[in-house]
Amino acid sequence: MDDLIRKSDKLSVVAQLAAGVAHEIRNPLTAIKGFLQLFQREKEFNEQFLDLVMEELERVESIIYEYLTLAKPNHESTFDNLHLQPLVNKVMTLVETQSIMKNVQIDFEYENVPPICGSEKQLKQVLLNLIKNAIEAVDVNGEIVIRLLNHAEDQICIQIEDNGCGISSERIARLGEPFYSTKEKGTGLGLMVCYKIIEHHQGILTIHSEEGAGTRIDVILPVYEG
Ligand code: ADP
Ligand code: MG
Repeated sequence: MDDLIRKSDKLSVVAQLAAGVAHEIRNPLTAIKGFLQLFQREKEFNEQFLDLVMEELERVESIIYEYLTLAKPNHESTFDNLHLQPLVNKVMTLVETQSIMKNVQIDFEYENVPPICGSEKQLKQVLLNLIKNAIEAVDVNGEIVIRLLNHAEDQICIQIEDNGCGISSERIARLGEPFYSTKEKGTGLGLMVCYKIIEHHQGILTIHSEEGAGTRIDVILPVYEG
């Protein structure tokens, strides 16, 4: 009985999200259609429009990708013995262009931590979302520190700290809500995806933030006990 209820709960969240996704991708699709109609009529190749079409398509793509992660978190992923230090380095390379463009300094401080048991693909997604949020939160010349620490005896902690805009307490309360974003181009699904994935890894994600001062996200994960 309990199981049944849990299953139907899950379904309704997924169904609710699907309705949200349909709603969210309508705007970029309408925009793309409008641009294409303009091309058709004017027969004029305009590079700026092309960039906009590409941006809107990327938005559709990320909404769908994030939705799929939420609806089916174990889709295409396997849990392995995973070393986090090289993973953080990999993700730092992925955000390099974005951080250089904004002149944001990203430092990585790490202790020698044992491996965890997890999905590289999913945890990469978590780190990418969190570091991107940090980059988006800071001003030019912002600073971000990523730390990899031994936590309790059999846990590790990944911290991502920024000196950006911070989050007010009433906004923090809304962060679990799908599609809640304060950004013009935000999907408002990134943090939900992170919560979901960390939960799947038997971990805990907490947000410490002060408006105007910055934010620190802590991700605590159990170490591998193979
Ligand atoms: P998105 O980034 O698409 O807006 P997220 O789910 O990643 O969606 O984040 C939701 C909201 O949480 C953001 O719009 C922003 O207001 C807030 N937020 C997340 N991370 C940070 C951060 N490091 N600093 C300030 N605000 C943040
Ligand atoms: Mg985000």
